[in-house]
Amino acid sequence: RRAAALSNVRGHGVTKDGTRVQLLANIGTAEDAERAAAEDCEGVGLFRTEVLFLDSDTAPTLEEQQETYERVFRAFGDRKVVVRTLDAGADKPLAFANLGEEENPALGVRGLRLQRRRTDLLETQLDALAAAQKATGGNVWVMAPMVAIREEAQFFADQCRKHGIKVAGTMIEVPAAAIRSTDILEVCDFASLGTNDLSQYTFAADRMQGELAGLLGIWQPALLDIIKMACDGGRITGKPIGVCGEAGGDPLLALVLCGLGVSSLSMAVGKIKAVKTALRLHDLGTCQRMADAARRAKDAKDARQAVIDLADPVM
Ligand code: PEP
Ligand code: MG
Repeated sequence: RRAAALSNVRGHGVTKDGTRVQLLANIGTAEDAERAAAEDCEGVGLFRTEVLFLDSDTAPTLEEQQETYERVFRAFGDRKVVVRTLDAGADKPLAFANLGEEENPALGVRGLRLQRRRTDLLETQLDALAAAQKATGGNVWVMAPMVAIREEAQFFADQCRKHGIKVAGTMIEVPAAAIRSTDILEVCDFASLGTNDLSQYTFAADRMQGELAGLLGIWQPALLDIIKMACDGGRITGKPIGVCGEAGGDPLLALVLCGLGVSSLSMAVGKIKAVKTALRLHDLGTCQRMADAARRAKDAKDARQAVIDLADPVM
C-alpha cells in the first residue's frame, strides 16, 4: 500500500529530508514540449534542437526557428527550458551542416566544433532563441554540446551574451570537461552532464555499436568517478550542474547522482514519476552513502547491488 501511495506523488523533486532536485523532461520537438508540459514536470532539461532539422536539406531560417522556439517556451510558461544548440555530426548528421567525410566522426568536427566552423548557423540560432525568449518571457537557458575545454565554454558564453541570451552553459560530455569542470563553470552559468557521450568517450566505446553496450553501462565505477569530479566543480563554483543523459531516468542511479551532487535530472517524461518516488523515499545522506558504495565497487554489477542494499525495500 505504501508503494502505491508513493507512486501517486505529485509536485517537485525532493529528497525525504527536503533537498530539492529539479525533475525535467528531455524533448526534441514542439509537439514533445506540449505533451511534456501537460505532465507533472518542472521544465525541460534538454531540448535537442537538431531533431527539428534532421530532414532538412537547407538550414532553417531565423523565422522558422523562432516560431518553434516560441511554441516550446509558451508551453512551459515560467518553467525552465534548457535549449541545446545544434548538435550536428557523428550520430546526428544534418544535411545542411555536412563538412564532408571524416575518418572518426565521433571524434571529429561535431557539436560546438561545427558551430565554430559554421558561425552563421550558431548566430542565427542564438538570434532566434533570444527573439523567442523576448516574445514569450520564457525562463530560457542555452547550452552548447561537445565542449572539451574552458576556451570553448568562454567562446560560447561570449556569443550568448552578444546575442542577448541571459543564461549560458555547456554540456559536459567529454571527460576532459568533466575533470576540469571548475574551469568551465567559472566562465559560464551552468553545466549539464550528457552521460551518453561521457560514457562513450570514457570507455572509448562507440555508443552506436550494440556489441559494446556492456562497456557503456552507466554503473561503471570509472564513470561514477568522472561524474563525481564534474559535480565537485559545481560545488566549488556554486553553479548548478544537472544530468540530461539516459542515466538520470533510472530511479536507483538517480539516487546515486543526487548523492554525487547534481541539482537536476532530465529524462524521458514518462520516467519522472518513478524517479520522484525514489527521491522521496531517501534522504540526501543515504544518497551520498549510495554514491560512495557504488564508487567503492570494482565493477558495474557490484556497484548496482551495493546501492540496492542501501535502498528502501519498496524499491
Ligand atoms: C548525452 O550525450 O548524454 C546527451 C544527453 O546528448 P545526446 O544523447 O543527444 O548526444
Ligand atoms: Mg551527447
